[in-house]
Amino acid sequence: MKLLYTSVNPMLVGNVRNLVENAGIEVRMKNEYAQGGIGDLSPLDAWPELWVVDDADYDRAMQIIDSITADEDATPWVCERCGEQNDASFDYCWNCQGERA
Ligand SMILES: [Zn+2]
Repeated sequence: MKLLYTSVNPMLVGNVRNLVENAGIEVRMKNEYAQGGIGDLSPLDAWPELWVVDDADYDRAMQIIDSITADEDATPWVCERCGEQNDASFDYCWNCQGERA
């Protein structure tokens, strides 16, 4: 078993889990239900974790995860209307609400 992915956001871990499972890779969740439960866990301990069962699948699983998490640090874009630079995660310009080209 190797740790593949962990996030404070259980939704993200769930999404990653679905994609890796769809590729035919067996995974296990840890701390899936820890949040909002056991009081003496630190927040970090309670993060849901996604583990790959067979270490031989690790590299393939990480490739899948890299391909979906790469969007998070994609390059910023520049608004065509006002020329302001916007974070890659924005679909609309923060300055003029112009739609992303
Ligand atoms: Zn703009």
